[in-house]
Amino acid sequence: MCRLEPGGPFLIVRDAAKAPLLKDEDEPPLNRDAMNPVAAETNSTLDTTNAHVAAGAHAPLEKIALETYVPPAKPSLVGLSRAEIAEQLGAIGVAPAQRKMRVQQLWHWIYVRGAKSFEEMTSISKEMRAQLDQHLTVARPEVVAEQVSNDGTRKWLLRLPSGDSIEKAHEVECVYIPETDRGTLCVSSQVGCTLNCSFCHTGTQRLVRNLTSGEIVGQIMVARDRLNDWADRATPTGGRLVTNVVMMGMGEPLYNFEAVRDALLIVADNEGIGISRRRITLSTSGVVPNIIRTGDEIGVMLAISLHAVRDELRNELVPLNRKYPIAELLQACRDYPGSSNARRITFEYVMLKGVNDSLDDAKLLVKMLKGIPAKINLIPFNPWPGTRYECSDWDQIEKFSEYIFNAGYSSPVRTPRGRDILAACGQLKSETEKLSVRERQALRAMAMTD
Ligand code: SAH
Ligand code: SF4
Repeated sequence: MCRLEPGGPFLIVRDAAKAPLLKDEDEPPLNRDAMNPVAAETNSTLDTTNAHVAAGAHAPLEKIALETYVPPAKPSLVGLSRAEIAEQLGAIGVAPAQRKMRVQQLWHWIYVRGAKSFEEMTSISKEMRAQLDQHLTVARPEVVAEQVSNDGTRKWLLRLPSGDSIEKAHEVECVYIPETDRGTLCVSSQVGCTLNCSFCHTGTQRLVRNLTSGEIVGQIMVARDRLNDWADRATPTGGRLVTNVVMMGMGEPLYNFEAVRDALLIVADNEGIGISRRRITLSTSGVVPNIIRTGDEIGVMLAISLHAVRDELRNELVPLNRKYPIAELLQACRDYPGSSNARRITFEYVMLKGVNDSLDDAKLLVKMLKGIPAKINLIPFNPWPGTRYECSDWDQIEKFSEYIFNAGYSSPVRTPRGRDILAACGQLKSETEKLSVRERQALRAMAMTD
């Protein structure tokens, strides 16, 4: 992994305490609700004038993860496997003969009923509930803000413990996109991202740590809590609201493989949340060695952030391409376990005006995907303050899409959702960036000496 270079691509962030409220005309005002007055008060502006320095061919391939995770004093059972829950029960003195049954009860209360406390778990004896409560929790990440787009998209800002006094609490975002036939939850895998894709807002975020399995599952729990979407609570349609999960939020899921795997196995578990593997999609920028593992160990649908058909351009847009070039990436797709015409791999292609949107690009794209059960998802570029890219003209997107369609590929153009609340693809970027000058200097010093 590359190290940050001195004087490298640090984003300049104003001191949150002194920062004025958002004024930038390009950035819509944050429509935070009043759930948390502290969150509303810290609303500040980012100076993104240096954001572009992280972009381009000279950007480091990866940033070093600066943040660490210190678990809370009372661990949460959310995100633990059955075996890990049994271990926790053993540690608090539950007799071996009882553990299996207790695990089953807990699993049901947590993942089918959405219980937020042991107190609610009425099929468990009072004494046992008290014992559990003394040592453990079923806590999920704390919701510090909720924004609702005028198209119904909802974005939650979640606060996670950092456990370190020098650091502010970590924050990630999670987005719910309702459609007529489904409800998709876009889930984050890391605080920030160590990769530096030049068109992605998350990529400009400096501070990075992996989420735990509990923090990943916790995002689905939070969405079900906020949408009142648990099994015993009536929903208007009678069905669930969160029907699909996409690992397309902040972070590169295949750089946090174990936690993402453990979390998705819980999300897919039939005796719990029960979202089928076919309704879970993991998107990667191309971490080749973990692509096959994804098929073997998780078995979910795969999406590849391709975005360019020539290595030269992909090196610039997705710098990880320098490590795993297009040919290797496509070979991993050909070898992806379980792919078939019924279970196609999605190739995501962000439409950047004058950069990757010519008909020659479309032709080469069709040619190179030959033999792979594929669908192509064209994503209109979602702009963010400070970016040097523009979204392709609609005419051009249509021509591109038509060429692909005529070549036999389904080529839906992804409708941007939640743009007004910066919830669309690649616009996510938590507020963890708002560090004080002292904190920034300390982190900078750490990065330089590491
Ligand atoms: N890190 C993973 C998953 C998160 S990004 C990945 O890169 O695949 C989810 C999708 O949004 C990716 O295809 C990503 O390339 C795309 N994306 C990032 N920034 C974007 C932007 N500004 N506009 C449109 N799509 C963007
Ligand atoms: Fe990370 Fe994906 Fe954004 Fe690239 S596109 S910086 S891999 S989140």
